[in-house]
Amino acid sequence: MIYTGMPENWRRFLKHKVAFYQNLSPDEQIYFEKRIIEFLFDYRIKGIDYKPTDEDKLLVAAGAVIPVFRFNDWYYPNLKTVYLFADQFSINHPLIKKGTQLNGLVGAGKMKGKMYLSVKALHNSFDNERDKKNTAVHEFLHLIDMEDGRGDGVPETLLQRPYVIPWQNLIKTEIERICAGKSALNDYACTNATEFFAEAGVHFFENPVELKQHHPELYAMLQKIFKYK
Ligand SMILES: [Zn+2]
Repeated sequence: MIYTGMPENWRRFLKHKVAFYQNLSPDEQIYFEKRIIEFLFDYRIKGIDYKPTDEDKLLVAAGAVIPVFRFNDWYYPNLKTVYLFADQFSINHPLIKKGTQLNGLVGAGKMKGKMYLSVKALHNSFDNERDKKNTAVHEFLHLIDMEDGRGDGVPETLLQRPYVIPWQNLIKTEIERICAGKSALNDYACTNATEFFAEAGVHFFENPVELKQHHPELYAMLQKIFKYK
């Protein structure tokens, strides 16, 4: 079988919905499409309480490809299946307050190899690329962070060793800024280093201009982490 490219209606959907894809050169767009197809081939996407559409699956794949677009042979070893919920969901977990409504979740133990996502949040994420929120990209960034065995905000598979300590110091300073209300990053990034990495990464991909302007040091470090430098 010969790969002849992505179905035209899929391409139209990406063009209409995914700003990251819109901003790529024509050659890069073809490469992005190839990565999307590969993702859909390698991982399962299942609906929990409804039947996922091709468009839902394309957005999940886009969320997976965006953060590792510059890593040509990237594979998520800690993922097997993405489970989609029609809307927010709650789970029974000792560390999560009962009844908490979630948009996305990854983790260890029972969550090993799984990602839960709300389809409503998934679509909202890509509808507004300037709000610096993207549930799918956020959860995939957690998987990248967790790949070295620890979800600690230090993605050691992407970050070269000499940068680990400077990155940890930068996280500390930036979290203090966020918690003090003196940051362009979303408040949620003040939670801990793990959430900081996911939120800062989303910000980098959704609004790099703002990040560069207000947080030049953080921007430069994320350029290194995601291979834009
Ligand atoms: Zn998170």
